[in-house]
Order: sequence, then structure tokens, then C-alpha cells
Amino acid sequence: MRIRDLFDLGRPVFSFEFFPPKDDSGVDALFGRIQELRRLRPDFVSVTYGAGGSTRDRTIALVSRIQREIGLTAMAHLTCVGHTKEELAAVAQTLHDAGVRNVLALRGDPPKGESAFRAVEGGFRYASELVGFLEENFDFCVGGACYPETHVECRDHALDLAHLKIKVDAGVDFLVTQLFFDNADYFRFVDSARAAGITVPIVPGLMPVTNLEQIQRFTKMCGAKLPEPLLKRLERCAGDPVEVFRVGCDHATAQARELLDRGAPGVHFYTLNRSTATREVYKRLLE
Ligand SMILES: Cc1cc2nc3c(=O)[nH]c(=O)nc-3n(C[C@H](O)[C@H](O)[C@H](O)COP(=O)(O)OP(=O)(O)OC[C@H]3O[C@@H](n4cnc5c(N)ncnc54)[C@H](O)[C@@H]3O)c2cc1C
Repeated sequence: MRIRDLFDLGRPVFSFEFFPPKDDSGVDALFGRIQELRRLRPDFVSVTYGAGGSTRDRTIALVSRIQREIGLTAMAHLTCVGHTKEELAAVAQTLHDAGVRNVLALRGDPPKGESAFRAVEGGFRYASELVGFLEENFDFCVGGACYPETHVECRDHALDLAHLKIKVDAGVDFLVTQLFFDNADYFRFVDSARAAGITVPIVPGLMPVTNLEQIQRFTKMCGAKLPEPLLKRLERCAGDPVEVFRVGCDHATAQARELLDRGAPGVHFYTLNRSTATREVYKRLLE
């Protein structure tokens, strides 16, 4: 199933994102958790693409296995980091041969220890170049990333949006946002994207908070903000994991309900490989 076709079904599209574990026993455990999640019938699941080596092989293997053995529509993330065009073509071909038909085409973050992204010789500088390459040479449904609060390297809204338009025009079928906690940022972003002529579905990406320190680290890294009222609520119960879980799930549920009520095409959950919080929020949404 190509993900772009799901948006024509006239109902919200739900998806769960995972990352490839470090070793084979972790992969088996995660695979079991994804099998469990199948009962919740997400529309698709996706697996992130890491910085290199065996974790990349695990992404390819995991996506192929989810598609083949669990029968869930699976999307492979793919980044330009450290890859030449030929290497990207080889990864794309392997995915295609395994029956994977959906790819989230990304530039990727700079590798650990490096402050800026640098394309390898014969590689791509921007995700838009990867999108165009996939569009020209394969028949994937291609997703792209977008940033309601702008990308960390481009704090100028209009410029970041102009770059996004180039990416979408290169062949993006749908967009998934970076995580955010204030829906106003999403609605404002969608309005400006539509005004700029970007018409593809823009799926909000949500992460139910289960740990304050962790979320502070993430938001700092990706440039998203933690709204003051949510931060205060989390700080008040920081020593009580059960209460943090409740506050995190309540916030994510309220966010998702409002987003869907006001026309968002679905919700993409950043699960961090732990399905408990996502499952809780998702169940509440289906009630
Ligand atoms: C849903 C989602 C999933 C992700 N999954 C992964 C993953 O699996 N693995 C991983 O490593 N990272 C992942 N990331 C993080 C992502 O790789 C980083 O945010 C990265 O820094 C940017 O990737 P991009 O594809 O958005 O890049 P791009 O769209 O290329 O944008 C990167 C920067 O370049 C600028 N830019 C774009 N085009 C141009 C142009 N033509 N001229 C000048 N400037 C330009 C943009 O404004 C932006 O600042 C994910 C992010 C999201 C939102």
C-alpha cells in the first residue's frame, strides 16, 4: 500500500515510528512489540535511519520484515548522510526488492561530533535532491520532513518554507512534522504552507512525554519549544513516573483530539520504541 492513497480514505491516518535497536536481541524484542501493536491497526509504521553501519542494515531488515511478516504497511526512513548517489540507489533498490513502497526522504543530521552537515562527494546536499532522485529512478511513495517551528538551521520562516516548497515540488507525496507541543504552531505552519502553494497532506508528529529530562534534551536538539504550562505540570511531578506518564498522555491526547477535530489528516506518533504511552493515547483517541 502506498501511504499517499491512505489520505484519500476519508479518515485519520495513524502511524507509529520506531528506531532500529543496537543488537539482534533488541530487534527481536521490538519486533514483538510491533506485532502487539498490530492489534491496534495503525495505518503504517516507520523505522528511522541511523548514522551508519549495522544500524542502517537493521533499518532495512526491520522494515522489510514488518512488511513481509506482520503485513503492516512499512515506511523506511533514508538519509543522505555519508552516502553517494550510487549507495543511495543500492539501498533504495534493496528496499524495493523487499516489497517496501514507502520512503521518508531526509537529509539527515550531522554525524556525532560534527557541527554541520556536509555532503559526501557524489552525494546530496538537501533532502529535495534525494526526493528528485527517488522520483526519477523508482516508484516509491515519498514522504518528507517539515518543521512547524522552523528547522534549527534556518530560523527564517519564509526561507525555510521556500526550501520546503522546492522539496515538495521535487516529488514529496506527504509531509510529517517534527514533534511540537503547541497546536497553534502547527495550524500557523499549515496556513503558511497552503499560502505558499504546498498542497500535500501535512501529518502532525506527536511524542507523548514520559520523561522530563529526555524531552528537554530532544526539544533543545530539534529546536521545538516546551510550552510553559506543560513544563510546569511536568516539573511538579518530575519524581513520580506514573504522574509524568499521566500528564504526558493527557497532553498528547488533547493535542491529537484538537488537531483531528480541526482537520489534520492523521497523527504520526514518535514512540521511542516503547509502545505503552502511544498505546494509551491511541486507545483514548479511538474511544
Ligand atoms: C518526521 C521526521 C523523521 C526523521 N527521521 C530521521 C531519521 O530517520 N534519521 C535521521 O538521521 N534524521 C531524521 N530526522 C531528522 C532530520 O534528518 C533533520 O531534521 C535534518 O537536520 C534535516 O532533514 P530534512 O530532510 O528536513 O532536510 P532538508 O529538507 O534538506 O532541510 C535541511 C536544512 O536545509 C535547508 N535547505 C533545504 N533546501 C535548501 C536549499 N535548496 N538551499 C538552501 N537551504 C536549503 C532547510 O531550510 C533546512 O534548514 C527526522 C525528522 C523528522 C521531522
